[in-house]
Amino acid sequence: MDVLIMGGGIAGLCLAHGLRQAGLHVTLFERDPAPAHRPQGYRVSLKDTGVQALRACLPGNLYDLTVATSIRPATRLIFMDHTLRPKFAKDLPQTLPGIDGLGVNRLTLREILMTDLPIRLGMDYQRYEPLPGGRVRAHFAGGHTVDGDLLVGADGVGSRVRAQLLPKAVVDELGWALYGRTRLTPGLLAATPPELIDSFNRITAPDRTAMAIATCRPFTPVPEAVARHAPGAQVTNVPDHLSWTLNVPRPDGLLHRQAMEAVRGWHEGVQRVVREADPGDTFILRTHSAQRVQPWDEPAVTLIGDAVHSMSPGRGEGANVGLRDARLLSEVLAQGRPKAEYEHQMLDYAFAAVEASLEHPFKPLDGGGVTGR
Ligand SMILES: Cc1cc2nc3c(=O)[nH]c(=O)nc-3n(C[C@H](O)[C@H](O)[C@H](O)COP(=O)(O)OP(=O)(O)OC[C@H]3O[C@@H](n4cnc5c(N)ncnc54)[C@H](O)[C@@H]3O)c2cc1C
Repeated sequence: MDVLIMGGGIAGLCLAHGLRQAGLHVTLFERDPAPAHRPQGYRVSLKDTGVQALRACLPGNLYDLTVATSIRPATRLIFMDHTLRPKFAKDLPQTLPGIDGLGVNRLTLREILMTDLPIRLGMDYQRYEPLPGGRVRAHFAGGHTVDGDLLVGADGVGSRVRAQLLPKAVVDELGWALYGRTRLTPGLLAATPPELIDSFNRITAPDRTAMAIATCRPFTPVPEAVARHAPGAQVTNVPDHLSWTLNVPRPDGLLHRQAMEAVRGWHEGVQRVVREADPGDTFILRTHSAQRVQPWDEPAVTLIGDAVHSMSPGRGEGANVGLRDARLLSEVLAQGRPKAEYEHQMLDYAFAAVEASLEHPFKPLDGGGVTGR
């Protein structure tokens, strides 16, 4: 079976590894010309479902590299007001990476997942065309076409595959947040109040503006982990940093300036984190929630990840469910079972997660993440 995957986000890349491990022929097409072409977001939290899917799909050395480069976990949960007066705080149990979940830097994970895969970058997928005999043709910008037995839409919340397959599918936009990153220099580390370091925190001002600051430092420095687990892998040595999300009513264009305005009058430690951020690293993230879709009967096309079930990030489930899709679809195809088995199970568990996530509106807590579109 010749599988064509459209989209090299977390879900599509994990699927490509799962299928390769099972001996299937796979090619992945990604619109970005390079892994770090656009902001990837900074952190994503994986729970047991996501971690087990990665373990099942990845070659052992890449899984070990993911664990080694994962972000050191928070040691405290703390809710504060804008002066950093605590409203609620508790210590978090010590966790072991890979056993109790994983916090990962998105670019690091993406680059690890891109290692040793047949990926065609800079390929902007446009549409598919069913072919006689149950095959399918993918059309790309520039007139290029590729034929295969199964086309998988892993092209994120703005999915073109979904738009053609399920033209009536609706994706609601939920809200916005500003997203930034500040290099954790020794000077900034020394000046930052300890409650903001290595904690899951939420800072809420009287006007309900809310912010979270996540400390992002890997267990093992990237170059050392790469040398140990996957020499030759191209993984950026992302500097230690604080990643932060800030709820704002509406982005106004000059994002970093807007972020500084939003925290004006807050504790100086918070203002400094925002002030020292690189303006170019500040961007908007939008959150979405897909409405339930019915099974489809197109024999050579399927969907995984946000392409079918984008959800509020409130429960931190989206990537986990996308990874679960990748694992399940790999297993179904590897065993020669009909892809409809994957679709029926996936629609059940994924839309249960979408609906549960809607009850948890996105409030920044752990510095969050971002999707492909
Ligand atoms: C603020 C925030 C915080 C989050 N935090 C968490 C968390 O802690 N835990 C968690 O589990 N989930 C979290 N999520 C959700 C998670 O980020 C997504 O569910 C996940 O990244 C989706 O992965 P994906 O591979 O399905 O899609 P994407 O990551 O969106 O990847 C889609 C890929 O397809 C490519 N593409 C798109 N169109 C085309 C085209 N036409 N041709 C070729 N390629 C194309 C894109 O370039 C991209 O690389 C969060 C989301 C947000 C917004």
